[in-house]
This record gives sequence, C-alpha cells and structure tokens, in this order.
Amino acid sequence: MPVDLRLVRLRKEFPGHDGGPNVVAVNDVDLAIEKGTMVTLLGPSGCGKTTLLRMIAGFEEPTGGEIYFGDKRVDRLAPNARDTAMVFQSYAIFPHLDVFENVAFGLRMKRVAEKSVRERVDRVLELVGLAGFERRAPSQLSGGQQQRVALARCIVLEPHVLLFDEPLSNLDAKLREQMRVEIRELQQRLGVTSVYVTHDQAEAMALSDLVVVMNAGTIVQAAPPQDLYARPSSRFVADFVGKANFLTGAVLDPNTVDVAGARLRLSSAAPVGVGETVELVVRPEAVLLEREAGKGAKGVVERVAFLGNHAEYAVRLATGDVVEAHETNPAERGMFGVGEEVWVSTGPLHPLPPRR
Ligand code: ATP
Repeated sequence: MPVDLRLVRLRKEFPGHDGGPNVVAVNDVDLAIEKGTMVTLLGPSGCGKTTLLRMIAGFEEPTGGEIYFGDKRVDRLAPNARDTAMVFQSYAIFPHLDVFENVAFGLRMKRVAEKSVRERVDRVLELVGLAGFERRAPSQLSGGQQQRVALARCIVLEPHVLLFDEPLSNLDAKLREQMRVEIRELQQRLGVTSVYVTHDQAEAMALSDLVVVMNAGTIVQAAPPQDLYARPSSRFVADFVGKANFLTGAVLDPNTVDVAGARLRLSSAAPVGVGETVELVVRPEAVLLEREAGKGAKGVVERVAFLGNHAEYAVRLATGDVVEAHETNPAERGMFGVGEEVWVSTGPLHPLPPRR
C-alpha cells in the first residue's frame, strides 16, 4: 500500500505562560501512514495528540516540518483546501437544520449539483443507519444518532483523510462500544485513511490498524494493537496500554531468565548478556497460579477479588515483588484464599530494552 499521509519532523511550539519558555506540544514527529489505515493517536492528557490532529486538519499552524497527503504537500494550505473532514466530540451539527440539510451542508458549500447532493446524502444516511430520519431536527435525536449525523456529514464529502477528535467521549459506555464498532466497519468499508484521537486505550485497540502512543510531544511507539500489547517498547507503553506486571530477572541463557528462583521463558532474545538483569513485562492474564509445589516461583496470595467471569489475585513473591494474576472461569478450579501459598509461573516474558 502506498503512503497516504506523511508527517515529516512536524513541530508545534506555543508561547510559554508569563514570558516563560515555549511549550513544545509536538516535538519533530515523523510518521508515515498507508492508504486506508485507521490510526489512533493515544496518550495521556497534554501529550500533544490534539495539536497533532489539528495540524493535519489545518486548524493549527506548524512551527516546523511538513505534512503530505499522497505526494501533495498540504501544510501551507487553508483547512478548506486540504480535503479533510473532522468528527468532533461536540458533534458540531446545526440545531436549526434537519438531518438531511445537516449532511448536505458541506456539499452545498461546494456548490455540488442538487441531484448529486440528494444521491450522496441518501447513500450516506443509509450507510450510517439514518435512512428515514431525513426530516428530523437534531433535538429529536439521541446522542448516538446525533453522532451518526456528524459522521455522515464528514463522509459525504469523501475526504482524503478523515479525522476524529475524541468523538465518543460524550456517549455512555455501552453506546460508545457500539459506535466504535460502527465507525470501524464504516471506515473499512470506505477504505478512507483516518486519524483518531483518544485517551481510551480500549477504544484505540478496538478501532485501529495502527496505534501511535505519544508522550510529551513525541511518538514513543507506533504498532498494530496486538504488537503494542504483547511487545511494548518501554515501561511507559506497557503501563499505558492494559495492565502490566514488571519483574526483574537474571538472564540464564538468551531465552531464559531466573525470576525469584523460577526458570521462565522469554518471548524474544534477551537484550542484555547472560548474568545481567533485565526488566520483564507480563500481562496478568498470562500469570498462572498452581497449588502444587515446585511449579514456578513460590509466593503468597495477598489479595483476592472475585469479579464473576474472572478473579484477580495479588501474589507476593519471595523477592518482595507483587504479581497480579487474572484467572478466567475461577469458579471451576476453586478460588485461592488470602494467605495461601501458591506457585507462580508465566507465559513467555517480554524483555524491555535497557533504559537509556
Ligand atoms: P488532552 O487529552 O488533554 O486533550 P492532548 O494530548 O490532546 O491532551 P494537546 O491539547 O495537544 O494535548 O496539548 C499539548 C500541550 O500543548 C499541552 O502542554 C498544552 O497545554 C499545550 N497547548 C495546547 N494548546 C495550546 C495553546 N493554544 N496555547 C498554549 N499551549 C497550548
């Protein structure tokens, strides 16, 4: 697939408060996105994701760097000359226009012929499940339906790049999950290159081909969701995406470590030499607890929570490290109790690169 959206050393500085140093919101970011990809920018508040999105849209002028859509450089173009459309958190639909006119608005601004406007709006309303709602006022719609109008208003323009600024934040949890599935299906059906900003890691993973994790204005890792989860490049990413246990092990051979007296496997070759210590990541669902002596490292159950479909345990190892273990279908095997002695083993441990 050809690269469809390219950021080259993209930078944004804002003037500091009270004459202080400039705030570097986006720090020389490079990113190449293939055509038809759904990318999410994920990161904590203030990491620069909104500023990055707004620069792609043209709402914010870069301090430095370049933005390309295909071969075309767009960073000097006005927003309306860039061929993007953005779905906002606040829906941004016109209260005085009905559903049809809201969706038709952008096409009318572009002076598209009336017949074509009707055809395109009808097709898009069908796509987002709002056929039959044409003459409704926005006030007669639910939050989810209003967000579908906002989405329809963007895709009817057939933009080169579709942008999403936390579009589901105002919806309740159940509707949010439903809408993210709909957005994903629609984006795949249209094959439109999309950039989606969120601070919700589950949303990012469910939606994306590529998750771009940002911190302090830089990209710390860009990877497909499963890679990001299984092979985080740093403690920050491991912690931000899902729950993580961090353990320290001594390298026995390139694929094996000693953790609290247990020989455990690595998911990839150790980044340091035999005899050296390495920081390891393991997800709670990959931690196994056994009652029989001898399997894994010895520990004592410190905390137990039963949550119906799974149980969560905290186990203290002899080294003092506390490991979280999540076990599905806990009723079947019988729950472990607080104070019980257990043996802890894990699926392959992911070694983190040494910190610089
Ligand atoms: P959030 O999830 O809270 O929206 P974000 O990751 O989207 O955060 P940005 O809004 O891009 O972060 O902000 C990045 C940094 O730039 C922050 O330190 C913020 O305070 C600063 N910033 C953003 N807009 C401006 C502005 N107009 N003037 C000055 N500083 C700004």
